Amino acid sequence: MKYIGAHVSAGGGVENTPRNASAIGANAFALFTKNQRQWSAAPLSATSIEAFRTRCAEAGFSPAQILPHDSYLINLGNPEAEPLEKSRRAFLDEMQRCEQLGLDRLNFHPGAHLGKISEEACLSRVAESINWALASTKGVTAVIENTAGQGSNIGYRFEHLARIIEQVEDRSRVGVCIDTCHAFAAGYDLTTERSCEEVFAAFDRIVGFEYLRGMHLNDSMKPLGSRVDRHQSLGEGALGWTVFRYIMKDRRFDGIPLILETPDESRWPEEIRVLRSMVEED
Ligand SMILES: [Zn+2]
Ligand SMILES: [Zn+2]
Repeated sequence: MKYIGAHVSAGGGVENTPRNASAIGANAFALFTKNQRQWSAAPLSATSIEAFRTRCAEAGFSPAQILPHDSYLINLGNPEAEPLEKSRRAFLDEMQRCEQLGLDRLNFHPGAHLGKISEEACLSRVAESINWALASTKGVTAVIENTAGQGSNIGYRFEHLARIIEQVEDRSRVGVCIDTCHAFAAGYDLTTERSCEEVFAAFDRIVGFEYLRGMHLNDSMKPLGSRVDRHQSLGEGALGWTVFRYIMKDRRFDGIPLILETPDESRWPEEIRVLRSMVEED
């Protein structure tokens, strides 16, 4: 079964997300459990948690259909002690929010070395941060997203994701999310069926499909290898429809949230409908 949705608004409270997802015909969704541009937020209220759980159950959303995303401010690979500590605390708070909401995974961008330490040292730091957060929580998997490799961001090679996973103590609670736009911008060609075959074979060899906990389905405004992260509506960018059709037809992408982060929200119902039609065609 394909779980297809979008990153919906949590405006007015997280309890509004299941309804926002249902309204666009989604059977999956992503959300921020707090304002993604601020460090701290008030704890989730008991009423909000209860309403979220009830509405997810009513609308038929199980944890495998939901992919919460953490704040953009967090850098778990920060080279400096004080900001690293701040990031770790904020990340733990996000993991705990997921626990409270009954969710089983948290999607995050691995981090950036800021030109102060090597990529390798940064990857180790991210793994240490994950180990620390997992030791203080239960039931939530840390889901590392591949990046476009913009600035000093790590995570733009499948090997980076593998290096982090290798250093995580509890591998049952670490996973990955592959963003099609980020992969393409990082240099993975996904424009033909054959190149998709090669890229996902490399992914399986280097990371392993057993770690795949979600996908971000975005077309790319920028060309292959640009290292610039600019999402585009499906079929309107440098990727075109091929990779999305490929994913819809491949059973290895079943049972995980497949999430649109495309810029034009008004097109989400149509994008979801087209994706779903690709699962069913022939
Ligand atoms: Zn993404
Ligand atoms: Zn992005």
